[in-house]
Amino acid sequence: MSKNRLGMAPRLTTEAHPVQGGISTRAIHAGQPAEPTTGAVMTPVFQTSTYAQPHPGAWPWEYSRTHNPTRSALQDCIASLEGGSYGLCFSSGMSAIDTLLRTLQPGDRVLCGDDVYGGTYRLFTKVLAPFGLQVQFVDMSDPALVVPAGTTLVWCESPTNPLLKTTDLAAVAAKAKAAGAMLVVDNTFATPVYQRPLELGATAVVHSTTKYLNGHSDVVGGVVVTNDLDLAERLAFLQNSIGAVPGPWDCFLTLRGLKTLAVRMQRHTENATAIADWLRQRPDVAQVRYPGFSGMVSFDLKGDLDAAVRFVKATRIFTLAESLGGVESLIELPAIMTHASIPADVRADIGIADGLIRLSCGIEELADLKADLERGFAAAGG
Ligand SMILES: *Cc1c(COP(=O)(O)O)cnc(C)c1O
Repeated sequence: MSKNRLGMAPRLTTEAHPVQGGISTRAIHAGQPAEPTTGAVMTPVFQTSTYAQPHPGAWPWEYSRTHNPTRSALQDCIASLEGGSYGLCFSSGMSAIDTLLRTLQPGDRVLCGDDVYGGTYRLFTKVLAPFGLQVQFVDMSDPALVVPAGTTLVWCESPTNPLLKTTDLAAVAAKAKAAGAMLVVDNTFATPVYQRPLELGATAVVHSTTKYLNGHSDVVGGVVVTNDLDLAERLAFLQNSIGAVPGPWDCFLTLRGLKTLAVRMQRHTENATAIADWLRQRPDVAQVRYPGFSGMVSFDLKGDLDAAVRFVKATRIFTLAESLGGVESLIELPAIMTHASIPADVRADIGIADGLIRLSCGIEELADLKADLERGFAAAGG
């Protein structure tokens, strides 16, 4: 085995074990041939920091910050799901985003969606702006969006968090291209089951694999996928230089979770669709936001912050917690939890009201979930 141009390990999926077929098939097989020395069907946890070399420098596996076989399997599997050639995994979604943003230079102009994940907003405004990145926040879902010439990067989430606004990614990709900018899409909420941004013209896709891709709320991780070899090379260099890599055990758990991605997403969507329809019928709900796929539903409860707090404390199956995308249902208040790092006036401007409740609908029994939300409404009204 020899190293390829990326200085990455040989690619398992495309060179040794090509996997065609639908997304459910690739989620189970891509990047995961049987282990050659034993025939183990499941990719082992290569819990090692280093590798014995038969000859100095002749071996593709050197050191586990640079590459690790369990991580390579995960990277290749997610790349395949997103329709990309190169995947790079990180120790969190934020480190994936941070590593990607280190390809930029001071003075570069970034156009970013105005209701992106709170941590992404904080990274841009508190960490990277002081290093000279010029970030402007805009409504990406606005069809009249203008990408000014001279923009280096357009950063988009669709659906957004927590307002679940959707963006015509192909249209934004065309505008970004015309302006000479690269488009990066955070695809955490849609997953490649419902949306593959690279096919719509994005340069790169990022995920917090913590959410739907792993799906079991037991790992924090992130990934970047691209078809652009130059970008992949820079990212591989940065991944190794910065070192925010996931351990092999976390990669194993994420690979395991990924296998059921397609069936989980189907059930998340069924439950969320039914809950959104049910919420729309209720007089105590002012507005329901649901894009029609995936498991996230947000709604404005009539009443003040106290009523919303009573609601989220009363549910028992919907656990009061940050994060999303696991098999279990979660509930939270963006204004004082996930999006508290956005200043109150900015929050109000973009429509994150104090009474906005965000649900991550899990894959439990629908009737139980509705009965649980009834408890919340009863507590809020009382
Ligand atoms: C959670 C999340 C992130 C950050 O990922 P971590 O794994 O928590 O670091 C980024 N973007 C979106 C849309 C998220 O939901």
